[in-house]
Amino acid sequence: MQTVSEVEKIVLDLVKPFDPEIDNEILPLSQVLNRILAEDIKSVLDFPHWDNSTMDGYALRYQDLEDLEDLNQNFKLAIASDEIPAGKAIAQTLAKGECIRIFTGGMLPIGADTVVMQEDSDRLDNFLHLKVKPKQGEYVRRKGEFIKAGAILITAGTKLGATEIGALASARCQQVKVFRQPKVAIISTGSELISLEDSQSLQTGQIIDSNLYALSTLINQSGAIAIPFGVVRDDRQELESVMRRAIATADIVISTGGVSVGDYDYIDELLASMGADIHVQSVAIKPGKPLTVASLTHSHLVNQEVNRSEDKILYFGVPGNPVSAMMSFWRFIRGAIAKLNGSNETYWYPQFIRVNTTEDLHSQGRRETYLWGRLSYIKGNPIFQPVKNYSSGNLISAIGTNAIAVMRINQTYVPAGDEVLVMLI
Ligand code: AMP
Ligand code: MG
Repeated sequence: MQTVSEVEKIVLDLVKPFDPEIDNEILPLSQVLNRILAEDIKSVLDFPHWDNSTMDGYALRYQDLEDLEDLNQNFKLAIASDEIPAGKAIAQTLAKGECIRIFTGGMLPIGADTVVMQEDSDRLDNFLHLKVKPKQGEYVRRKGEFIKAGAILITAGTKLGATEIGALASARCQQVKVFRQPKVAIISTGSELISLEDSQSLQTGQIIDSNLYALSTLINQSGAIAIPFGVVRDDRQELESVMRRAIATADIVISTGGVSVGDYDYIDELLASMGADIHVQSVAIKPGKPLTVASLTHSHLVNQEVNRSEDKILYFGVPGNPVSAMMSFWRFIRGAIAKLNGSNETYWYPQFIRVNTTEDLHSQGRRETYLWGRLSYIKGNPIFQPVKNYSSGNLISAIGTNAIAVMRINQTYVPAGDEVLVMLI
């Protein structure tokens, strides 16, 4: 049995990230939400493109005010006859002792370096009286102040959200190169399972394959594509043929069930017979102790059409228990998808925060123990409320949760009010 951090490292070491030259697609900006950029994007322009005003007011030369001050005079400037709304190209040079009406986003005339807000001035005929002396450069965005032409705007590996997509649009990128989405096959194993779509009535002993739905959701949330391979009975031959098809199709294969030490648990045995390298068989984690991590290459699949011939295909055999299956995903598979799909390293690991628990937390201390709960805020302070009557076999008890408290090995008790490490999910 390996520790959680050992298994995390083994998994990440097995993942070879997508090649930006091969595993990419070029998509219009409208289709890149949550996708990972596969190339550095450089700014083609200076941002802002020219010096411009951030306020409605008057553009002026700061030196003119200094000169007036030296002469002990009021700040009184002549107002130029023209005015500068946003979008007007201005070639005019501001004369000495003059200011010009300007509006938010308007381009500063040559010579002007400062803007006085409308509210800080009085206009009298063709003259402007300044009520206060502005600071030099006030209310002006300088050309290239945000970014200079040629500098990198967004680096490869960045996940694209609203901010990044907006910035790409302002830099006139109509389409960008992003990594393709990993294909993740899901096989639900167990002779007791019935597909949700199956219309037959449930016989004694049968249960619905809920893992397909929970795991597909997690896979899609992680930016990968879930490919269902259906329910497979605990039958060696049937299982082997579906496993082979899934391995040939996907970048990552997840099967649920059949990885314990029971008589009907065939996954490890079949992987071994296919020549897979088995790296992990159990983890010191609760829930989720039985976990198989294996890797295969093309050579393991003679006579099969293969997706990525040279590269390793990762196989995760997770427990059938729905809560454990999700735990294995959050703790180990999510990071593998993030590394594979070209995301930068910050996305490879779960995020943890330290918060106070509202209730006592207990663990046997032998395995790293994960306890479901809800992270919320009371008067701005985060708190963790664990689920009452929690059972690792009971997905229903986890409804509405959004975080999981982590108790390290040998940590058996955290009293209410104390700090605990919490994993965000
Ligand atoms: P196993 O890991 O195969 O020993 O299964 C452990 C428990 O999880 C059993 O009670 C199964 O009935 C249940 N289980 C297995 N597969 C699924 C599934 N796909 N959806 C919901 N429950 C499952
Ligand atoms: Mg089973």
